[in-house]
Amino acid sequence: MSIAANISAIKDELKNTGVQLIAVSKTKPVESITEAYEAGQRIFGENMVQELVEKAEKLPKDIEWHLIGHLQTNKVKYIAPFISMIHSVDSIKLLQEINKQALKNNRVIDCLLQIYIADEDTKYGMDFAETIELLRSDEFKALKNIRIRGVMGIATLTENPRMIRDEFHELKTFHSGLKETFFRKDPGFDQVSMGMSGDYKIAVEQGSTMVRLGSTLFGNRTKKN
Ligand SMILES: *Cc1c(COP(=O)(O)O)cnc(C)c1O
Repeated sequence: MSIAANISAIKDELKNTGVQLIAVSKTKPVESITEAYEAGQRIFGENMVQELVEKAEKLPKDIEWHLIGHLQTNKVKYIAPFISMIHSVDSIKLLQEINKQALKNNRVIDCLLQIYIADEDTKYGMDFAETIELLRSDEFKALKNIRIRGVMGIATLTENPRMIRDEFHELKTFHSGLKETFFRKDPGFDQVSMGMSGDYKIAVEQGSTMVRLGSTLFGNRTKKN
């Protein structure tokens, strides 16, 4: 199927759920993004800063770019002028840098806290205790140019749907707990970014508000990324 047909099929599937589609275009050429754009898609996710910046320069300015991959503090400045959302905040240090660069650009940047839910050592993210510690800290409370919109998580790469379901359920429950405790007065803390091509159906069933889909829309990636 064409990219346009894939997008339309997924949009149909998500229609009555309120779940947003983030089209993950990493490693894919500008032409593929243009095809998705012409099919009506406006939110795109990339995991590398340089690639994101290069594509953003060439593509229409009404695209909302989401950074979904690990972000190094020294690269924040390149995306701060225009990024719509950063899904991968995993330390107070990074958050402070995002705040500093957002201030320089006279904006408030939407962020998600990346929470470690997978049964794998290699994934980035904070555990529950680290997340709570961050939200309680005075350093966090001083930041005025970032807005925490919710949480993001990546489930274990496994054939076991029960395990994936449990991990997504845990993330959704954790989000609800944080909302009660830290964001009672902030209706903007409403996003749970979970679900990729292999597991988005389970994520939607478990209360995802944003799915990040790459290969399902654009075809398989040749290089591992
Ligand atoms: C690559 C990537 C995706 C999309 O993966 P697919 O399996 O191709 O849908 C989603 N989220 C993150 C963080 C990624 O790095």
